[in-house]
Amino acid sequence: MTGKIIKGIGGFYYVFAENMEIYECKAKGIFRNQNIKPLVGDDVLMDILDENSKKGNITDIRERQNELIRPAVANVDQALIIFAAAKPAPNLNLLDRFLILMLKQQVETIICFNKKDVVTEKEIALLEETYRNCGYHTLFTSTYTEEGIISLKELLAHKTTVLAGPSGVGKSSLVNLLSPEANTKTGEISEKIQRGKHTTRHSELIAMGEGGFVMDTPGFSSLYLADMEKDELKDFFPEFNEYADECRFLGCMHLNEPGCKVKEALSDGKLSRIRYKNYKDLFEELNQKKKKY
Ligand code: GDP
Ligand code: ZN
Repeated sequence: MTGKIIKGIGGFYYVFAENMEIYECKAKGIFRNQNIKPLVGDDVLMDILDENSKKGNITDIRERQNELIRPAVANVDQALIIFAAAKPAPNLNLLDRFLILMLKQQVETIICFNKKDVVTEKEIALLEETYRNCGYHTLFTSTYTEEGIISLKELLAHKTTVLAGPSGVGKSSLVNLLSPEANTKTGEISEKIQRGKHTTRHSELIAMGEGGFVMDTPGFSSLYLADMEKDELKDFFPEFNEYADECRFLGCMHLNEPGCKVKEALSDGKLSRIRYKNYKDLFEELNQKKKKY
């Protein structure tokens, strides 16, 4: 039987198997030789030990496509960042931080602005234009009117997606729409773990109706750009690229250098002021960090 590890806790791995059942598995000896520890997201081979109590053994791990560190998960196809289009207004600095972190880990990000029902067409157009011009797929949804939900389902089908966003934006409501069964399945796992609610929250993949998995990432109030050099920050603003080659100085940071084509494009209204301000703020933050150490 094949399956995917959706949760790991206390030496047990919960495997969502091809027959749509969840098995509580142990990883058997072979891994000790391979120097590899099973990870949420791993595609595995398993033996069923007991069909009634849904227990099994993981016997092999398929080669990983990739492995994210934060959150710790293997075989990620894409990330979905969710903000409310309004109520609360999206924190675009936080959004840009997330985009940078994912770009650094070479994971493509889809941006979802929820609560479409509370914003005007004009507000939508501004957000859409800002991020579309940076090359991001931007989507607007409402869990109230269910607008955009079908498109979202299509984007997530048959893929493993890391989900992120601050609280209050409608993330749980969206997950419930995407996977109405998720709650019962999660309940089943909690039952098995017994300790259930008393355990700290672990990263977990949720199987969706259409096939595909989403991982809700807890703890998203601030995102720290660790191990980022200020000089490389500009490379994570893809919309700068087409102008950056023409800057007078090689290695131009697009701040105060003369003959900077990025700043020229900015004054011509070809680049987003919001994005550029976030770039400058983040650059300054990285600069300060360096000074401290
Ligand atoms: P989470 O904290 O991100 O998981 O958000 P919840 O799903 O708990 O929703 C937070 C609040 O936003 C609740 O009061 C929801 O009723 C509301 N909400 C969720 N989706 C929408 C939406 O599409 N439109 C509007 N207007 N409110 C929404
Ligand atoms: Zn420049």
